[in-house]
Amino acid sequence: MTFLPKPAKPYPTWAKFVQALHTHGLSIKNMDTAALNLALVEIPGLIFDAMSQRNEAKVIRPSAFLACARQTFYAHQGQPSGDMPDNIGTTFAIGHVLHQLSYAALQSAMPPGFVGFYELPVTLPDWWPKDAMKYNQKGTVDTLLKVTDSEVAADYLAADVIEAHPKQLVDFKSMGGFGFKKHGKALFDHDPDGFGYISQLTVYADSPGVDCLGSGAIMAGINRDSLTQPLKPRLVTADVLEAEKARLIAAFEAAANQEDPGEEFLMRHDDAANFFCGRGSGKGYCAFKEVCREQPSR
Ligand code: SF4
Repeated sequence: MTFLPKPAKPYPTWAKFVQALHTHGLSIKNMDTAALNLALVEIPGLIFDAMSQRNEAKVIRPSAFLACARQTFYAHQGQPSGDMPDNIGTTFAIGHVLHQLSYAALQSAMPPGFVGFYELPVTLPDWWPKDAMKYNQKGTVDTLLKVTDSEVAADYLAADVIEAHPKQLVDFKSMGGFGFKKHGKALFDHDPDGFGYISQLTVYADSPGVDCLGSGAIMAGINRDSLTQPLKPRLVTADVLEAEKARLIAAFEAAANQEDPGEEFLMRHDDAANFFCGRGSGKGYCAFKEVCREQPSR
């Protein structure tokens, strides 16, 4: 048996439970070889793709062009986006490896009463635009955990949590040490989400078959600079996801009506957006930062 031993008291949240699963399963003493082999089968192809082709998004998808309404507008209009650095492949490759090993860890540690789905293909919510030329119509959810037997599961996870939230979406993000520290303290209802992580979580949480928006969703940080540090799973609450859903729907409508929303991300976050938008001393990560600067709306 490799699964997580029963705790003295059930974990009070899904986030604590997921952290315990991850820590336990990653141990060389507990890693299940069948789960590990499943992960290893996937890794060569993922590394090959990361290192041999460009990975920029060509269309709007849950992980691309949603952080700012103007990004969505530009991408909808077919505005060319800037390229990522040519040597970005190793970052993606390592990220894929860490994701796969995390799935193996969770699966190794998964106790009776629960089931985990990994790299789960999903269709997108009914509010996601249907124009397949501009919007990707499918996505993949990192991990969906479900309770299969409430009585058995209650040894591990508090009974009130199981009753209110019998399933939980978990999205892994590998990050450098600085990002990991920020992730630990992030105020998800306030801090700039330049890379669209909350946008992505919102779309997936509301996808058919996942239907977890009302439970919130977990963003689980992996510190790729210090891999012995425990996973940092943080709950993005339902009200944050609901607010993001409303913002995304407004952004899609503006894009479809060809209404330029202006520098929406900068307006929302002011100077805190500079890091992402490339203003002030910020380097800028937005794929449209050049054209956006050339077209001031305020
Ligand atoms: S540079 Fe900033 S405001 Fe402009 S499109 Fe990009 S995220 Fe939006």
